[in-house]
Order: sequence, then C-alpha cells, then structure tokens
Amino acid sequence: MRSKILLIYTGGTIGMNRNPATGALEPFDFGHLLDHVPELRQIDATIECPLLWSLPPIDSSDMTPSLWSDLARCIAGNYDDYDGFVVLHGTDTMAYTASALSFMLENLTKPVIFTGSQLPIDQLRTDGKENVITAVEMAAAKDGDGHAMVPEVGIYFGGRLLRGNRTTKQSAEAFRAFESFNYPCLADAGVDITYHRERMLMPDWTKPMMPHYDLDNNVIIFSLFPGIREDIIQHIIHAPNLKAIVMRTFGSGNAPQQPWLLNALREGTQQGKVIVNISQCVQGAVEMTRYDCGYHLQEAGVISGRDSTVESAVTKLMFLLALYPDDTEMVRKLMERGIRGEM
Ligand code: ASP
Repeated sequence: MRSKILLIYTGGTIGMNRNPATGALEPFDFGHLLDHVPELRQIDATIECPLLWSLPPIDSSDMTPSLWSDLARCIAGNYDDYDGFVVLHGTDTMAYTASALSFMLENLTKPVIFTGSQLPIDQLRTDGKENVITAVEMAAAKDGDGHAMVPEVGIYFGGRLLRGNRTTKQSAEAFRAFESFNYPCLADAGVDITYHRERMLMPDWTKPMMPHYDLDNNVIIFSLFPGIREDIIQHIIHAPNLKAIVMRTFGSGNAPQQPWLLNALREGTQQGKVIVNISQCVQGAVEMTRYDCGYHLQEAGVISGRDSTVESAVTKLMFLLALYPDDTEMVRKLMERGIRGEM
C-alpha cells in the first residue's frame, strides 16, 4: 500500500526564497512545496503538508522547548493517519530538536526524519531538493512485513541518515552539514539507498508509541577552560532554580583539580543538582576512571555522560527532570544509561 507522509515545515533556509526587491531571504508559502519540488510527485507515496505548524516559520535559532512540545503533539495527534513524518527545520538547532523529539516519542514505530538545507530550495545549486526527496523516500520505506524501515528520529542530510540524538551540526558551509561522531550512519543514499538495519533501534511493534510533552529547562551547559573563575562557577552552582548542568570537560572527561572547583561541584550535587560530564572532544567518550582528575569529579558526584552529544545530554536532562520531578536519583541513574540509543 502507498505510504502516506506528513511533511511539517517549521522554518529555516530550505523554505525561503530571495525577495527580488530587497535581496533578503524570506519564507515562502510551503503549502506550495510541490510547485518548488515537482519531483516529489514521482515518489510512490502520498505527501501532505497542511499548515499545522505555528506560523510564521521560524529561524531555528528561535526554537524553544514549548515548540518541541507542539511538534511532539503534532506528530502524536497525526500518528495513526500517516506512515511517516518529515520535519523541515533550520539546520542551526536541528540536532537539539531531533534529540528532544527522540526522548519525547517513546517506542517510536514510524520514521520521524528531519531535514533542511544550506541553500534555499529555489536556488540553482540547492541541496534542499535532494535532502527533502530522499527524506520522504526514507520516511515512506517499509520492509517485507510492512514495518517502517526507519523506526527512529533521524536527520537526513548530504547523503546520510544519522540518528537524531547522535548528531551535531559541524559545518555552516558544507552540504554535509551534520556528523554523528560516535555512531555510524543508519542509511546511505548513493545510487541506491542502503539501510543499515542492524544499527537501528527496534521498537516493540505490538505496543503503541507513547508521547511525552513535558520538558523542564532549568538546566545549563558550560565549558571548562584554563582560567575559569571560582566566583562565576559559584553563581552557576547556586542559581536558585537550576536543577542540572552539562559540564563540558577536557579530553576523556578531565577537569582542573583545584579544590574550589571540586568543592563547588560537590556542593551542587549535595543540593540535588544533576551534573553531567560531557567531553569537549566531539569524538570519543568520557572515562572518569582514566586519569586522577576525572576520578575526583566522580567523587564529587559528577556523573558520566559517556559519548553523548551535548545536544542529547541537555535535552535528555530536560526530559528526565520533567518525567521524574521528585526523583533526582532516577534522573542520575537514567543519565548514565542509554534510553534511546543516545550513548
Ligand atoms: N539560520 C537558519 C536556521 O537554522 C540556518 C538554516 O536553516 O540552515 O533556521
């Protein structure tokens, strides 16, 4: 049976064209997507793009947790009527949105594929057409049992499908704008599309998808650097509503061994704040038992985010803090364990 795909346009470069008078990029009416990409008609799938999303379309720098909840509601509300979902999104925060959605949509049995472009879709050398055409093909693909080939939240960009919560924007310039440094791609689009199903998450097909809409954004990300100041760290640690910190450390999870820093982190943990150690290196994992300075962090109550991306760690914290508002131990436990293939 012909797959039915819901295309959701949230904004970003892909849906903009140049105003001939001013030369500036502005969003066009995406209800007319098929006029811009008539090739989509050749795909053996029914594609619908009703105006479901909050208008006007946004630059993804303006993305918020409440818009993530709207997006999750939009997908959950239409879940039974479609076989797959393609979300067109600005590239700047796409990895955050894809990570958030991967946590919010539990036991996902249908594809939710994010894509966008570096050049607007009406420009001669646009990467948008290939991105959207292949994303739709991937969202529509089914196996011999009629199950979705990609039951995951993915980002399709520049010839590869990557797991959403493993992905980071790595280039503001290249058509291959995204990379998944710690997990191989889920599918390659060359002459043929090759799906690497052994790398994909498999849901329980007999159970329904379970959406979650609440997020708690009382979180912060900060990077360590030589010269970081005690007074500033004290402000962060004692910020009244702050519940969790993603701390970007050096190498395999190392930090300066100054006692004031370790004491501040210990105080934070004792106050019930969840402090997660993520490396500033994009590749590799945090191993807090490898060096003495990492070991001291563990003693101060800092937990390891292993090889998670920053985007994944911060959105997972928002998700878990909302799910277990009174159970810090549970949040800590689940932060150290993969729940959607994110580590
Ligand atoms: N600033 C744009 C956005 O993220 C960039 C893009 O779409 O590529 O919305």
